[in-house]
Amino acid sequence: MALYVYKFGGTSVGTVERIKAVADKVKKARDAGDQIVVVVSAMSGETNRLVALAKDMQTQPTEREMDVLLSTGEQVTIALLSMALHNLGCEASSYTGSQVKILTDSSHTKARIREIEDAKIRADLDAGKVVVVAGFQGVDEDGNITTLGRGGSDTTGVALAAALKADECHIYTDVDGVYTTDPRVVPKARRLDKITFEEMLEMASLGSKVLQIRSVEFAGKYNVALRVLSSFAEGNGTLITYEESEMERALISGIAFNRDEAKLTLAGVPDLPGVASKILGPVAAENIEVDMIVQNVGANGTTDFTFTVNRNDYIRAKNVLEGLRTELGAQIVSGDDSIVKVSIVGVGMRSHAGIASTMFKVLADEGINIQMISTSEIKISVVIAEKYLELAVRALHTAFGLDQA
Ligand code: ADP
Ligand code: ASP
Ligand code: MG
Repeated sequence: MALYVYKFGGTSVGTVERIKAVADKVKKARDAGDQIVVVVSAMSGETNRLVALAKDMQTQPTEREMDVLLSTGEQVTIALLSMALHNLGCEASSYTGSQVKILTDSSHTKARIREIEDAKIRADLDAGKVVVVAGFQGVDEDGNITTLGRGGSDTTGVALAAALKADECHIYTDVDGVYTTDPRVVPKARRLDKITFEEMLEMASLGSKVLQIRSVEFAGKYNVALRVLSSFAEGNGTLITYEESEMERALISGIAFNRDEAKLTLAGVPDLPGVASKILGPVAAENIEVDMIVQNVGANGTTDFTFTVNRNDYIRAKNVLEGLRTELGAQIVSGDDSIVKVSIVGVGMRSHAGIASTMFKVLADEGINIQMISTSEIKISVVIAEKYLELAVRALHTAFGLDQA
């Protein structure tokens, strides 16, 4: 008898019919003799609807109340799925995060899981029941409801799989696995049979929202066998693994992109020691996360300082720089919130030179200007104008031999 954690995302439970289809699938697995814990997201669009409601009520609601509100989406789905299972004659109980309980820290809207109590789940499984758990939510030490950040149900699934030492964690979604890039942008994208944790972590961090970053971190840390599959079609999906496949190892495994980017420049700053910290200190103090940073070589005693932030933080970051301009004796504050980051990812990069130059040539041949570059051992990222996103991703996908035959 094997123990599986199945996680179903928003689209997979988006209607009553789909919830019934999920119940069918779960019941079949249980009838085949396996123990099944199901984690579900809110029905598709529901979390966005709740966010919009909150914004209509108050410009800046407290994060504590946001969590109370957002956690209701998943509570609806666990109850409906349990009813669907009962309807099929399959015993099932639903639990919210705080009932399980999934204990988190108190960072509302981006809480981290500390511990999972598994006694109730184990007892139900031993009694032959299916256990249905609300994704994306937990409870802190003081009993406050918390949420795990957008896409957080993936992390609930993986964390439960780790706590229960499940044989496998299945992330069922609206695509049939992890692709070389988002198949909605590149129709020629190819499904990968396997991808390494390291690569998946880079892909997720660089914008591939098929898995929440933390779920991949968790799976890597606790050695959870993690698979991404389609809720709607049969197939083996993609296994996230430690093994690097020896066969036809490509130089590049995938291309990720992130549209939520903006860049800011403080130009004509006196080129003195401590300038970077004088600029980034106040930005950090506003709780604004900075991603890429470039400081130009100084000329005539001044330099230009450019960095990127999440697009939601653009206006706030610009205001910080305006405030600093006179203080630091800088000349101009400028910015652009219609940029994107495109990244190529692959462990194959370690052993091959010349990948960066190929990437830059492909973009140059398409007439795409590169505004910023950053590299690590297994990825190269560039910032380009948003209007070139699709063109850049498709051209790179073809150039690195990732297109479907
Ligand atoms: P769910 O609601 O099931 O959690 P998400 O929308 O969070 O689903 O994630 C699935 C989506 O991720 C896909 O529909 C796809 O557009 C997108 N995606 C982005 N990059 C990739 C990739 N490399 N492979 C597969 N899907 C990707
Ligand atoms: N419902 C939450 C969201 O939309 C969590 C999730 O689906 O994973 O972000
Ligand atoms: Mg998701």
